[in-house]
Amino acid sequence: MKIIVIGGGIAGLSSAYYATKNIPDAHITLIESSDRWGGKITTDRVLCNTRTGASPVPTYGTFIIEGGPDTFLATKPWAVDLCMELGLTGRLHGTNPHKKNTYVLNRNRLLSLPDGLAMMIPTNIEAILRTRLVSWFSKARMGLDFLLPAKSPNGDESLGTFVSRRLGREAYENLIEPLMSGIYAGDGDALSLASTFPYLRDLELKYGSLARGALTLHRQMSSNGQKMQGSRSAFLTPTTGLAEIVEALVAYLQDPGIDLRLNTSAKLVMGHLSSFHVELETGEVLEAGSVILATPAFVSGRLLASLDPGLASALQSIPYTSTATVSLAYRHDDIPRELDGYGYVIPRREGRRALACTWTSTKFPHRAPEGHALIRVFVGRAGQEIPWDEGDLLELAKEELNLTLGITAEPLVQRVFMWDRAMPQYNIGHPEILRRIDAALEEHPGLALAGNGYRGIGIPDCIHSGELAVSKVLATETQRV
Ligand SMILES: Cc1cc2nc3c(=O)[nH]c(=O)nc-3n(C[C@H](O)[C@H](O)[C@H](O)COP(=O)(O)OP(=O)(O)OC[C@H]3O[C@@H](n4cnc5c(N)ncnc54)[C@H](O)[C@@H]3O)c2cc1C
Repeated sequence: MKIIVIGGGIAGLSSAYYATKNIPDAHITLIESSDRWGGKITTDRVLCNTRTGASPVPTYGTFIIEGGPDTFLATKPWAVDLCMELGLTGRLHGTNPHKKNTYVLNRNRLLSLPDGLAMMIPTNIEAILRTRLVSWFSKARMGLDFLLPAKSPNGDESLGTFVSRRLGREAYENLIEPLMSGIYAGDGDALSLASTFPYLRDLELKYGSLARGALTLHRQMSSNGQKMQGSRSAFLTPTTGLAEIVEALVAYLQDPGIDLRLNTSAKLVMGHLSSFHVELETGEVLEAGSVILATPAFVSGRLLASLDPGLASALQSIPYTSTATVSLAYRHDDIPRELDGYGYVIPRREGRRALACTWTSTKFPHRAPEGHALIRVFVGRAGQEIPWDEGDLLELAKEELNLTLGITAEPLVQRVFMWDRAMPQYNIGHPEILRRIDAALEEHPGLALAGNGYRGIGIPDCIHSGELAVSKVLATETQRV
């Protein structure tokens, strides 16, 4: 049985892993167009002279700098399970439980998010009454959530419309939008509720109120002994960065039965039912009974253009946003303000060019040497182009840190990562696009899709998508036999 997996990000690596594990006699080829594995997962481990004061002796410390994702959600099981199978459990760190503040930029000031957010919904009335993030009028409007009847089921709506309808527009813009839309670098007024946060609509329908529903679930889970945030941290990351997962997967896949090819770009996928041909940019043609496309949806669409134009056009209709991250390291003495939290998010209405700023070395203290801080600025969101120049991005990030944190010192270390069309936008209409894709795929039993373009953008979802793609090709192969 021959399987070709196209794309060596976490979804493609996971597909190859589950194919190897679950189909022992498979001959697997994994191809990746770039010169490294991991796709959006990339970690720089930067050794630096961190000598402080007048000490003549150089001391070296390592900054763990993530270019793409920096952590994964532990409440979805697939990444945790994979790490366990790869022997990485003992290397996973949670977020710092001692400085859990998250701030929101509000008219150039940093204000704490109110306590008691459950499933991102405010549930602590006292904390809401105290917060300066929303006006008194807005606080009263949020209370209507307990009284307003649930809207009768009638198709999809945008995240922005839904939250504004339940909690009011100001609460949406100042509290909820920067948290929720930030995950997708998206526009909340375009994002599909059904495809991004379907549980919010379930809470409305079942409990008639978001706050009541989130509180009830929170209490139920707490009384079951599993707190909403998980008994450990809700977010985990390996000691020397997420690249550890990629490295462990590649080590597992280095087996004579598996053909791992870097610098190999797929150009076209052709064929039918049980026989596919993958044409590479070099002109070489590979043949297989099954193909898993773990490339971004727009690339998969391009590859399938001649095999199935309808499927290709559905794939290409999923929009993507470009983003960038800029990581800067400083001596603590060079930072005028204590970094007493995980960082801050920036609502769209603030009009800043940055989307958020993570205080990485507070969130994960092992990521910077003693006496030093690592900060990461996110740039780029739907409707806002990023400057495609490393120097401009550095300037933008430094300006953000100067404006908000008062940092004027030059960083000890700086790293910029630019991600062209990286974040799929599950906008209104996304469920319909998925229906078209699923219907078209039924005509191609040996063909499967994996990756962040469809049913989840986070690392656990991408891993799960690889596992599901392998289940599909395995079921097809079993039927063929
Ligand atoms: C800045 C940033 C921060 C993020 N933060 C988080 C986070 O903290 N936690 C979290 O869970 N998620 C986060 N995400 C999302 C998550 O990282 C991604 O959704 C996920 O890594 C995507 O994995 P993938 O395998 O689907 O795609 P990719 O990683 O994009 O992999 C696709 C691969 O296909 C290859 N390819 C493309 N064309 C071809 C071709 N023709 N032939 C062969 N190969 C090809 C590409 O080179 C690439 O390696 C973040 C994303 C970004 C960009």
